[in-house]
Amino acid sequence: MQRLIILLFVIAVPIVTLSQMNSKDSALAQSLEKFYIIAEKQANKIWPDMKPTPVMLYRINGPVLLYNHPKPGTNFNKRKAKLHIGKHKEIMVYGNYCSDFKGITTAIVNYDLPDVESPEKLFAIVFHEMHHGYQKNYCPKYSFSPVDPLITYPENAINDALKIYEQRLLYKMVNETRYDKFLSLFNTFYSCRLKREAIIGPYLKWEEKTESMEGPAFYTEYRMYEFLINDTVESKKYLEKHFLKLLTEAHFGRTALRQRCLPTGMALCLILDKWEDNWEKPYYQSGRSLVEFAINKFNPEIKKVHIPAHLLKESEVKIAQTQKQRAKIYGKYKDQAGIKIVLNINNTTIGGFDPMNAFGISDSLILHKTIFEAHSNKGHKIQFNNYPVTTQIKETIWKTKKITFFIDQNENILKGNKISFENEHIKIHWPYSSLKKEKKHVEFWLL
Ligand SMILES: [Zn+2]
Repeated sequence: MQRLIILLFVIAVPIVTLSQMNSKDSALAQSLEKFYIIAEKQANKIWPDMKPTPVMLYRINGPVLLYNHPKPGTNFNKRKAKLHIGKHKEIMVYGNYCSDFKGITTAIVNYDLPDVESPEKLFAIVFHEMHHGYQKNYCPKYSFSPVDPLITYPENAINDALKIYEQRLLYKMVNETRYDKFLSLFNTFYSCRLKREAIIGPYLKWEEKTESMEGPAFYTEYRMYEFLINDTVESKKYLEKHFLKLLTEAHFGRTALRQRCLPTGMALCLILDKWEDNWEKPYYQSGRSLVEFAINKFNPEIKKVHIPAHLLKESEVKIAQTQKQRAKIYGKYKDQAGIKIVLNINNTTIGGFDPMNAFGISDSLILHKTIFEAHSNKGHKIQFNNYPVTTQIKETIWKTKKITFFIDQNENILKGNKISFENEHIKIHWPYSSLKKEKKHVEFWLL
């Protein structure tokens, strides 16, 4: 039977997609169609007024399945009324996210990741991205938080210890069935947040902004999984393993900074769900952060917070370890052989960098380990690909006044009054006004 299906499929698909679709891809295309019908029916039940977006599922170096998209464009071939197939090497999408594709908000998900072990999990993730699409199109008061804090977030042992304590309180609150006990926990949770705000200031607002977007998306992901699996015991196990257990994990400093906001936000959704009816629409209408919205509902009191001593000790040790490790990485970078090139730069726009591989060495110095790109308003450009470079930031991470990197001493990077150089890792074409040359150190002032 399966062979027959594959054969029929081969006949039906245009030549361009034959080399790309295997039997697993074809089975997935059929599951996607079924899932979409479910998503259309369930979206409003899981989150009032939520509507599914078009979906793009892809496999790196394989096919791209585009479903219910009104303008697929010329890179896609029609397979069925709502399904179009393209090639990943022509579309080149990476990661899971929700974004405009040909002007239409589309949930984009890689279906070939090792931790996505079942179709239910995959489609729950698709639903998560669809929720971001709903936020983007229908919740104008909410937006994604910036990436800067991933690099500059304060490393403070008291904040870290309080944060872990707070996560554990949320875990308890999700499981608490008595309102008076829940409220007592919520009082302590609220007091922890206030204490942390006094330590990290605007960075707490960043956490809450992230929580406000990711919490509901993570919550809808779980609710869709729960519906698809249709097994209360299995669903409870899944909730525990993939969602709530994250609240019991200890992270420190800048580790998993964004990821930690998913379960905390989801826990707030589960708590609101338990004690409040129809809170979802008023939440997005309020423009408040998720935690502010919950505080407004439960009206907590300030309590004295006792930071667990073992958490504080552990945080101190972990932060010292991270800082030592970072100093080692930076030491290796700055003591490397070759010629040190320093570019003094004005009026530059940062084109891109990889926040997961950028480290704040100090408040103003960033080490980019993989990708960094900047350009001037006159069209001059510098790009680094898998190559370490440091930037001296000017107020924000998006502005730089100095770029430093090392090159082999035999390289010639000059062409007249221009730095002009390309290899597999570095690409730079930029005129300069002056330079200062020493034996192993050349400093430029770029135009
Ligand atoms: Zn998300």
